[in-house]
Amino acid sequence: MTNGRGPDPTETLMRPGDLFRLFRARPEGLTRTELAQVSGLARTTVNQRIDLLVDAGLLTTIPDGSRTAGRPADRFVVNEGYGVVLVADMGASGLRVALCDMTARIRAERAEPSDITDGPVAVLDRVVTLFGELLAAAGHAPSEVRAVGVDVPGPVAHHAGRVVTPPIMTGWHDFDIPGHVSRTFPCPVVVENDVNAMAFGEQRLAHPDVANLVYVKVGTGIGTGLIIDGHIHRGADGAAGDVGHIQIDGRDDEPPLCRCGRAGCVEAYASGWALLRDLREAGVDVESVADVVRLTRAGHPEANRRYRAGAAVIGTAVSDVVSLLNPRVVVIGGQLAAIDDVLIASIREVVYRRSLPLATRRLQVVPSRLGHTAGVHGLARLVLDQVYDPRRVDALVAATAHAADV
Ligand SMILES: [Zn+2]
Repeated sequence: MTNGRGPDPTETLMRPGDLFRLFRARPEGLTRTELAQVSGLARTTVNQRIDLLVDAGLLTTIPDGSRTAGRPADRFVVNEGYGVVLVADMGASGLRVALCDMTARIRAERAEPSDITDGPVAVLDRVVTLFGELLAAAGHAPSEVRAVGVDVPGPVAHHAGRVVTPPIMTGWHDFDIPGHVSRTFPCPVVVENDVNAMAFGEQRLAHPDVANLVYVKVGTGIGTGLIIDGHIHRGADGAAGDVGHIQIDGRDDEPPLCRCGRAGCVEAYASGWALLRDLREAGVDVESVADVVRLTRAGHPEANRRYRAGAAVIGTAVSDVVSLLNPRVVVIGGQLAAIDDVLIASIREVVYRRSLPLATRRLQVVPSRLGHTAGVHGLARLVLDQVYDPRRVDALVAATAHAADV
């Protein structure tokens, strides 16, 4: 029930699913006494709810130093043994898979080169094989998998779990990713855009007290993940934050062509693929974005000149995002961000010059702390939020209680 100021906290906390959220937020766990204090619920209600969550396998106990009436008090924590989740972070040219426990800790991971243009069947079959190997090595059965998370370098219709007209993912348009993966793992399969997953990972792990964060990935392409009020902002169609294809007007009479088919996009000036193209045209011997990164880091004059010019263009685009969304933190990640501080310094300079003081007064522009693992960390948390959705927890608890009654 609402009273116009949001749900009544006491009433919401009556549900086991909402109580369980308190345990997820406290890795150290809670005793019955602490839960009564934190929730404001009567001790009898607390006891009943905790028993239900333990019976459903969601909570377990660890020893506690304190004593209640001479007996050691039980401390309740999220039951890691409830199952595992599997996640796959798929980039244009590589993939990373991880097996995580029910508190999102990575227990095992593997990374290998992979070409997204091989198409969905080949790439997803490889992911499923790697998942199977991780499970076997960790001694878990496929039936213990509670959910799977997959991210892809393209626009995602989140609820359908499908990729929509991806510019660089040949053959993936409208492919049923959950349908394919759940043939092997019959459990919920979450599909997300890769940069959204990275943004979520950085926010939840590296900036947990920050509700509004923008993650900018500057690699082969340029993408942005937006976290607004603690949630991924996908927009009406999953296309929010497509900063790489904002057009920079009035810069050139003949703006460079973009891989999206238009001309003058941020990507066409400043991305890894654009720098590669420009350096080749200038006669520099480069084969890949990795070569561009290596040359720039080694101080190659032409590579550095273009990298710096690109950084200024990215700064302009990011300052527009800052003016629009007023984030507390802007995280810069990706291959090009890892070269040196130039990209971050340039973005800071342009943002502070172009955005209003109110938006920049407490703004931090920082490098990614999680690097290559931001995607898997974000996916694990995203997937667990779904597994432990309060309504789902309530349904599970009700089903367990009902089974015990019959
Ligand atoms: Zn474009």
